[in-house]
Amino acid sequence: AVRVRFAPSPTGNLHVGGARTALFNYLFAKNHDGKFILRIEDTDIERSTKESENAMLQDLEWLGLDWDEGPGKPGEVGPYRQSERNSIYQNYAQKLLESGHVYKCFCSDEELARMKELAELKKLPPRYTGKWATASKQEVDAEIARGTPYTYRFRVPRTGSVTISDLIRGVVTWKHDVLGDFVILRSNGQPVYNFCVAIDDACMKITHVIRAEEHLSNTLRQVLIYKALNLPVPRFGHVSLILAPDRTKLSKRHGATSVGQFREMGYLPDAMVNYLALLGWNDGTDKEIFTKDELMEKFSLERITKSAAIFDQTKLSWLNGKYLHQLPDEELVKLISSHWLKAGILSHADSSFTKEAVELLKDGIDVVARSEVPLLKLLSYNLAQTLESKSLGDLVKDNLREVAEALISAHDNGELASALESGRDGWQTWTKSFGKKLNRKGKRLFMPLRMLLTGELHGSDLGSSMVLLHKAAQQQCVTAPQF
Ligand code: GLU
Repeated sequence: AVRVRFAPSPTGNLHVGGARTALFNYLFAKNHDGKFILRIEDTDIERSTKESENAMLQDLEWLGLDWDEGPGKPGEVGPYRQSERNSIYQNYAQKLLESGHVYKCFCSDEELARMKELAELKKLPPRYTGKWATASKQEVDAEIARGTPYTYRFRVPRTGSVTISDLIRGVVTWKHDVLGDFVILRSNGQPVYNFCVAIDDACMKITHVIRAEEHLSNTLRQVLIYKALNLPVPRFGHVSLILAPDRTKLSKRHGATSVGQFREMGYLPDAMVNYLALLGWNDGTDKEIFTKDELMEKFSLERITKSAAIFDQTKLSWLNGKYLHQLPDEELVKLISSHWLKAGILSHADSSFTKEAVELLKDGIDVVARSEVPLLKLLSYNLAQTLESKSLGDLVKDNLREVAEALISAHDNGELASALESGRDGWQTWTKSFGKKLNRKGKRLFMPLRMLLTGELHGSDLGSSMVLLHKAAQQQCVTAPQF
């Protein structure tokens, strides 16, 4: 049975790259009726924190990527935090020592530094020379008696190579001799990262290791450890990098990169999951909107692209808009009004105002965090200012002069405002008589009206927009209405 894992190091936030790795593992597991395991790689005691671990768990839960085994979900092969697995690593290190795959190395740091310098002088790669690889039992015992600290070093075969058939990258081969004998236990007994990963993946019976491309080069050491222990080697799939639209490594200067930031901006988890799935995967068609169930059904490693994926927040926002518009109106209004209140757009909760505004402006809203943009745009339009502005002023002079003049007087004498007092009906009655007076109807009436009242040729329903504007001004529920 398929068993995959997501193995974050809790040294910061869950970023989109990590979230995508988690998602691919999750989808692969679901697609194969397998198990999705969460393992916390907290061997780096200095950089790992509990806060980071908790935040990552929370982000994964928010995305709905629930794990079958892991923290809070005991299983047969736990514990699932590396910091709680030390005795397991020590056991395997001992086994490897006994079988001769590992030896004790008593080189001091100074000695290792000198080795490196010497190699550099000779223009050789800075590798461990194997000084203690062939030491006799007496030599080793003598150092131990002297109390010299030692590491455990893995004996890399001098000849031969390791080949994997990566599920994404294809066949990859490393000659053993690109590697010197490497440390698996430090002199303080701390196991080294690559050793822990190999032991964990083996003990947790992981069948497919799906992870970021940056870990590809670790695979050689890990496979050597599997082979030395006679453990089955899992399949590997190394997923390409995620780049920013400018094709450089995605980083803070490109904007939000962590899942938590997107959550705070009001992106919806389902939209996020959908977008993450498209970062390097497609179903072979142009389809871009997938429910989680569809993803589980369709996902396959064969359809993961080898080239880097581009993280494009505009696209994510567009997709988020699609999901936002599918929400029941009530829920959408709740989300948006709590954001407007928090952002100081609304001076007090007014659900009927928000409801009308959302109904009217919905199509222009893609992300909750930016939902006020169409509202503020509508509210900040100022008829008098626009008439003064040259370009529109000219247009008005030439074509719309009479409508403009009539509108200005209807505005100034309060006729328009009192009509809007009775909502959309009032608006309708008023436009009818206004049109009659000017002998205009249809497009000839409404195009200039829209232009004059909103500064745009197209937009949301004009009557509703005007009623909303009026309400905002009357109830003073919005912070900066200028109508
Ligand atoms: N702990 C590693 C990371 O957070 C993942 C290692 C792996 O997947 O093998 O990048």
